[in-house]
Amino acid sequence: MKLVDSHVHLDDAKFDPDRETVIERALAAGVERMMAIGTGNGPPDVDVAVRMADRYPFIYATIGVHPHDASKATPETWARLHELATHPKVLAVGEIGLDYHYDFSPRDVQRDVFVAQMELARRAAKPIVIHTREAWDDTLQLLREHWRGSGVMHCFSGGAAEARQALDLGFHLAFGGVLTFPKAENVREAARLTPEDRLLVETDAPYLAPVPKRGKRNEPAFMVETVRRLAEVRGVSPEQIAEVTTRNFERLMLN
Ligand SMILES: [Zn+2]
Ligand SMILES: [Zn+2]
Repeated sequence: MKLVDSHVHLDDAKFDPDRETVIERALAAGVERMMAIGTGNGPPDVDVAVRMADRYPFIYATIGVHPHDASKATPETWARLHELATHPKVLAVGEIGLDYHYDFSPRDVQRDVFVAQMELARRAAKPIVIHTREAWDDTLQLLREHWRGSGVMHCFSGGAAEARQALDLGFHLAFGGVLTFPKAENVREAARLTPEDRLLVETDAPYLAPVPKRGKRNEPAFMVETVRRLAEVRGVSPEQIAEVTTRNFERLMLN
């Protein structure tokens, strides 16, 4: 099986003691490519993923300001992001969006920074990677008003209705560890109805490890558990999931 982890925080401090080993285990498990998410701990450091992508040929990068850090964005941040957007291994702008669960940044600031990053992505002609938590309606409304391109709903945790809305907008749905949680029947229902050509998989490591690793530090190698479960849910083989999600990643991000 050849897999792509479409969303991993490889820069996270939880990987400081053994990052090299984590990457080796990923490769050994068949996770041959990874998209490092560049939001880090927020501005001014917006190149954390680009630095990883510069070091490893099989690691790609996103750039962006997470909704948690929206209030840290300054004119210097925007200048730097526009500069980084032309880097050959920067494939997308993300993760961007709205998080009303934690409200680490005021909601109006989150919305402004989200919209500004859609403009950044539009100018760079890159897809966007969306993080949305307890903010579904506002996220959708802003996408409808401001976005005319492709993108990914990362760590998709909604049900059938939300899945249909995101698919109608042309988005891909990326499923992670949540899909394996016993209570996540709604997410499995969403995974069942997603067309094959809109499916992606991810870990969001070090967060949200799939069952049976739940509660531990997550890492890209654990994604095989999610792939196995997704295959079960859709009534296909894990190899089939690997093949279509790899093809989808390539078409969306590398064309
Ligand atoms: Zn997220
Ligand atoms: Zn993430």
